[in-house]
Amino acid sequence: MPTPRLRLYNTLTRTKEDFVPIDADNVRMYVCGPTVYDYAHIGNARPVIVFDVLYRLLRHLYGEKHVAYVRNITDVDDKINARAAERGISIRELTEETNRIFQADVKALGCLEPTVQPRATEHIAEMIAIIERLIAGGHAYAADGHVLFSVPSMPDYGRLSRRPLDEMIAGARVDVAPYKKGDMDFVLWKPSADSEPGWESPWGRGRPGWHIECSAMSWRHLGETFDIHGGGIDLVFPHHENEIAQSRCCFDTPVMANVWMHNGFLQVEGEKMSKSAGNFVTIHELLHSEKFGGQLWSGPVLRLAMLRTHYRQPIDFTSKALEDARKKLDAWMRAARLALDGEAAAPEPSDDLVAALADDLNTHSALTSLDRLFNTTGDGQSDAHRQLGADLVFLGLASRSELKKPHAGFVSVDVDKVQALIDARLAARAAKNWAESDRLRDELVAMSITLKDNKDGTTTWEVKR
Ligand code: AMP
Ligand code: ZN
Repeated sequence: MPTPRLRLYNTLTRTKEDFVPIDADNVRMYVCGPTVYDYAHIGNARPVIVFDVLYRLLRHLYGEKHVAYVRNITDVDDKINARAAERGISIRELTEETNRIFQADVKALGCLEPTVQPRATEHIAEMIAIIERLIAGGHAYAADGHVLFSVPSMPDYGRLSRRPLDEMIAGARVDVAPYKKGDMDFVLWKPSADSEPGWESPWGRGRPGWHIECSAMSWRHLGETFDIHGGGIDLVFPHHENEIAQSRCCFDTPVMANVWMHNGFLQVEGEKMSKSAGNFVTIHELLHSEKFGGQLWSGPVLRLAMLRTHYRQPIDFTSKALEDARKKLDAWMRAARLALDGEAAAPEPSDDLVAALADDLNTHSALTSLDRLFNTTGDGQSDAHRQLGADLVFLGLASRSELKKPHAGFVSVDVDKVQALIDARLAARAAKNWAESDRLRDELVAMSITLKDNKDGTTTWEVKR
């Protein structure tokens, strides 16, 4: 199969480039994963979804067994220590619980599991090995139980973020400490108090700084240099700049990864998401509560809403956008199911879809190609709608089994019967006959009807896939 030309925007060169893997047959990608101390918010969902689409595309272009995708789990961090203490549980309990929720959230968003999800706490030996090499090479120094990276030891530090020196110094100055030799030097290792998690090291009992974790995990699982490194745009400086400094100076390589990709930021209803602004939305809340826009949203709807904007653009996440995505996805699903009529969707995505994605993940144009299939009329309609099904699967917007469900039961909802059952249930509730009211709800659920009891005493309903 001739491989279509894949072009990716590289933050390092600020241009869209032809993608050429280091090893022609195997692609290696690393994406910075979550710090597991609390529910992931919908901003965190963005890189997970964006790089999942890239992972799917790479698997299509290079073969499933020829793509290694590593997304780490940061399970040692001062925010974790503080939260565990606040909740009165152990660090391990907190990180296990948070990680379980994260995995369930991103699975609901249609994301494939990465090849490896390494945990920072299982790579302390690699971190110590890198730090020792940096010290031996004159790129780091120990002071007061700390080890710091010496930024002046790397002449081309700052190539990724291209920030003016005074800005970098101001950014690094947040952390003023007597043991720092240079203003921009950053922590590789720090001492732990007895109450804090710590590991024995040549510099005493301590724990790693954040940046060193990713250098260690990417090295262990992908090697000294690899193809693609991703994350949100906020990570460019200092996190990625410092990862590059550590890895390149340790292994004496011209690059850490060839291509650096960054997703734009997400804001909610026109505002920066923050706890204090009260517009902080977690993935979990969107999927399991009616807090946002007064209704539950399904994973595929969230995913579609996210993919309608190009990954490098900022996204304004609104309930209107979710509502639009829901309508669109419902229409696509209905058409694909009717055309498939219980058959499995074809295994291959359409050429138009692949070509759009291969152009720096142009998901907007990819989704336009799905609409073209949807809008096909006449003789070709059935084939086009079956292809639509395959494309929905490829994009992670539907599962094969969901598409195979015949659509008949879904469209032929007997509205009068639904209303009669709802009225009977309201009457049962008024009579405080809870057993009967539950029975009627179950009957409706069996018909794929979800109920919503409103504050004014009415009940509204919708058909759930
Ligand atoms: P953190 O847990 O803050 O390190 O973030 C995990 C990932 O989510 C990183 O790749 C961040 O860049 C990304 N991220 C955090 N907040 C947002 C946001 N509001 N919009 C887009 N990406 C975000
Ligand atoms: Zn990282």
